[in-house]
Amino acid sequence: MAEPKLRKLKKMYQHRDRVARGLTEDGHFRIGVVRSSSLASHAQQRHGLAPLAAVILGRAMSGAALLASFLKGEERIIIEIKGSGPLGLVYAEAMQVGEIRGFVGNSAATIDMKAENAQLGDGLGLGLMQVSKILYDRGEPVTGITDLAKGDISADLEQYLLQSEQIRSSVVLDERIDDEGNIRQAGGILVQAMPDADPEQIDTIVANITELRRRNSSWMTDYRPDEVIQMIAGENVKIVANTPIDFYCRCSIERFKNGLMTLGRAEIEDMWRKKQRELVCNYCGERYELSDDDFSGLIDEIDAQSAGTSGGAS
Ligand SMILES: [Zn+2]
Repeated sequence: MAEPKLRKLKKMYQHRDRVARGLTEDGHFRIGVVRSSSLASHAQQRHGLAPLAAVILGRAMSGAALLASFLKGEERIIIEIKGSGPLGLVYAEAMQVGEIRGFVGNSAATIDMKAENAQLGDGLGLGLMQVSKILYDRGEPVTGITDLAKGDISADLEQYLLQSEQIRSSVVLDERIDDEGNIRQAGGILVQAMPDADPEQIDTIVANITELRRRNSSWMTDYRPDEVIQMIAGENVKIVANTPIDFYCRCSIERFKNGLMTLGRAEIEDMWRKKQRELVCNYCGERYELSDDDFSGLIDEIDAQSAGTSGGAS
């Protein structure tokens, strides 16, 4: 009886979304590989994304997860893209601990892929990519902004890393979509060359990635991220982290209520009167509904606070 259960657990472990990080022994390359199939599929369902939005958001979240894998604990990466195309804004945020969330401005956006010279980047159009790092030892986010290169996220991230951080990088973001337009597989690879890296070595790793993708278009699910690192970088690479990842948002009704408190009594009473009860989290699409008790509780709290301040002032 125990064996099938164990096998099931093993299978779950094998197929779980995760991001792995490796470092070559000579210290010349660091490599991140992410499997983000469930993450991208979950985001598509949560936000009701048409295929174009699902692909772009999936890629942005994979990219954020890869960049965050080089950080520590609750340090975060935020990728924000504002383009002239039909998708509008794209937002992806990832913590090193594996919590990832994101959304797009227009979830129903489409482009005519049959048109001549049509490409994924038409969804974003011309615009800017901003990457922010929220780090433990910095009071303010560290932010870099670059023009969109191609709008396919991978070329955009490569350009950002080179221009803004002066790191030569290769970024690959892949996905597979079924006939209904649902994301079935997603994943990505980030290779970064340190300044003393040998250009020939870079070419070898990039060639290995090309070969892997050519040989197996399901590489994202057929291999674990740590296996992929070993396949592209050879024996002399050490896996330094292997972290499970999930679509996860820390929103809660309590957080929303704290935000509402700042609006003041009159505004909250107005919402109550107009029965504006529903609150929607932009980041994850979660819906919350304020009850009469929530409203009266908020007003009592504001009254208690203002009584407290005026009492303290006298
Ligand atoms: Zn949320």
